[in-house]
Amino acid sequence: MTTETIMTHAASVLLIPGDGVGLEVVPAAADVLAALAPDLVFSRADAGWNCYQHYGNALPEQTLERARHSDAIIFGATQSPSGGAPGYASPILSLRKELGLYANLRPARNLPSATQVFDLLIVRENSEGLYAGREHPITDGYVGERVVTGSASQRIAEVACEQAFRHAERTGADPHLTVVHKANVLKKSDGLFRSKCLEIATKYPGLKVDELLVDTAAMWLAKDPGRFGVIVTTNLFGDILSDLTAGLAGGLGLAPSANICASSPALFEPVHGSAPDIAGQGKANPLATLRSVVMLLRYLNRPDMADRLDTAIETVLRSGSLTPDLGGNASTAEVTEVIKKLVLT
Ligand code: ATP
Repeated sequence: MTTETIMTHAASVLLIPGDGVGLEVVPAAADVLAALAPDLVFSRADAGWNCYQHYGNALPEQTLERARHSDAIIFGATQSPSGGAPGYASPILSLRKELGLYANLRPARNLPSATQVFDLLIVRENSEGLYAGREHPITDGYVGERVVTGSASQRIAEVACEQAFRHAERTGADPHLTVVHKANVLKKSDGLFRSKCLEIATKYPGLKVDELLVDTAAMWLAKDPGRFGVIVTTNLFGDILSDLTAGLAGGLGLAPSANICASSPALFEPVHGSAPDIAGQGKANPLATLRSVVMLLRYLNRPDMADRLDTAIETVLRSGSLTPDLGGNASTAEVTEVIKKLVLT
């Protein structure tokens, strides 16, 4: 299976709403998706803190099994108990690991009203780096190990090169990949990541390739995000830079993401968390999850539907009712209803 997939059967979509606003934005997104693509088969599974409190497990085996056998997954958000709980592990980290979802795609595009025009994609290595979970005690504290392997660097570079061409096709720009690293300090680990990415990129004729140190990349993202096409980087740098670009693009309420690999169903989720401060109030912005659905539709090889939903979201952002995080006073349900009407007309 490639990052876009051709179905020979009715595609199945597993919904894992999770906790907090996940319980509001995932049903909203599923409602729009079902209206757009009535042939999709939906099912639902539990994960997260509510699930842990009911069943003593944040990611039951049944949820994992359903995830493995679906074609795509829409994940909302899960809450982590402050101070932890015995045996509680973050379900999204476990899911990414169990399904081998090593590539995290985080696109960002300017708001229609913005003066800075940009449309970029961060491809974040999602299986190792500083998030490999290797922390060891030392006499006066802890050491966190940062893992960079040649094989993981190579496969994320391949995804990024492929994505650079898809991105260029959609935006009309030339395929452009920027390798972001800190190889001047992390000479061995990021040296390896850098050289693997540059080596793989030479196999893609027509791809413009450059590189930036992560600090310089942060400066240029803030100053002139329009100069970027696709960025490939390691786990922590990708996490931080993609929150920066989410901020430039209008905030967490608008930032979508996909988690992919070549051999498992892909998982689509908003970048935001469970937002306990607004959960249950009908105020959550559903657009980040709906933009994740745009990515899901492209993945399921339904570009016309993806374009329709994308255009509907842009229309709402231009002139429609908005949730409070974007300065409006519409509810989650009202925004969802407007989008649904737009995609059906
Ligand atoms: P978690 O611990 O689950 O990550 P958090 O509150 O630390 O939760 P987020 O859930 O990402 O992190 O929320 C960060 C801020 O962004 C909060 O003020 C939240 O209300 C806001 N926010 C997040 N998602 C949305 C959304 N969909 N619509 C509106 N505001 C949101």
